[in-house]
Amino acid sequence: MSIKKIGPAALERWVDGLIGRQTVIGVQAKGDKFAFAPLAKTSALRLDYDVAVTAPKAFLQPPCETLLRFNPKGYESVVDEQPFVLFGVHPYDAAAILQMDVVFAEGQADIHYLKRRAQATLVVSDVQQPSANVFAGCMNTAVLEQGGDVMLTRIGDAYLVESRSDKGAALVKSLAGEPDAAPADLQLRKKTWDDNRKRLRRHELKVKPGDLPALLARSYDHPVWEEKSKRCFSCGSCNLVCPTCYCFNVRDDVRWDLQSGERVRTWDGCMLAEFALVAGGHNFRKKKPERYRHRYLRKGQYLFEQHRQIACVGCGRCIGACVTKIANPVEIYNRLAEGPR
Ligand code: SF4
Ligand code: SF4
Repeated sequence: MSIKKIGPAALERWVDGLIGRQTVIGVQAKGDKFAFAPLAKTSALRLDYDVAVTAPKAFLQPPCETLLRFNPKGYESVVDEQPFVLFGVHPYDAAAILQMDVVFAEGQADIHYLKRRAQATLVVSDVQQPSANVFAGCMNTAVLEQGGDVMLTRIGDAYLVESRSDKGAALVKSLAGEPDAAPADLQLRKKTWDDNRKRLRRHELKVKPGDLPALLARSYDHPVWEEKSKRCFSCGSCNLVCPTCYCFNVRDDVRWDLQSGERVRTWDGCMLAEFALVAGGHNFRKKKPERYRHRYLRKGQYLFEQHRQIACVGCGRCIGACVTKIANPVEIYNRLAEGPR
């Protein structure tokens, strides 16, 4: 697939053309923060953002979605099949989406996620401005060398645009007349990637990601779980901002006629007190230390055992979202590596 080099004017013309043809979800400033939202004009797009408050997964697995509608005659599934572009996704968030693709395709494949995902074209953009808490460099997710449909990298005042799939090639078709990237441009891109692997380390993990599963497996009874969770409000914010968290709840909303209604899926989070409450009133993670420990073991051990990937991409959102400052995975993993004390 080709790699084009385009200036700011060509970038603007390209995105203008995309907005005219389909829904483009791009990062925009919201006060002093950034968020993904439908783009009405190219000038609102901010590829220099540090981190988006909510991960772009929200457009693939929405916080609240209708799965089916029912009435006395039967039911129909509700499936979203509108094409859209997710523009400017950082490599760590793209890595999280690639993990979600595996989760939602295994076992009973989730058609709601998969059909929406099939309609999405992913334009990944290298980080220009590291956020305050990012540690993607420690998790091997600062750079996405493969995957996504289009890869954008800023070099000087220009952008390199690499199409990486058939969907990507279709998206960049209008750039056919732009010059191909020269070997020197590719060298600059490599330097950007090397720099980002070093820069996106605002917290330094002292263990290799591959060693985390074994470390967590032997830390089940570590005192840190009890100690830190004393300050946990069970608010679930660390779950809700996380790009790799995908747990959900399903409920039936029945209308006043008591015959028709909707089946709705909403985000859920393992740090919430009622997450593990089951029929009969038993809660199998009733205590805060149990829930607090579970979040780390789930991400670093249990999901690794299933998919051979650590379910933390180092975006750092949970660190900033936790008002009581106890949700930093790096701090916990480094503490575990020191051994029990
Ligand atoms: S656990 Fe925290 S740092 Fe890791 S992916 Fe989730 S929100 Fe980001
Ligand atoms: S954000 Fe902090 S206080 Fe809230 S559930 Fe997570 S660890 Fe507990």
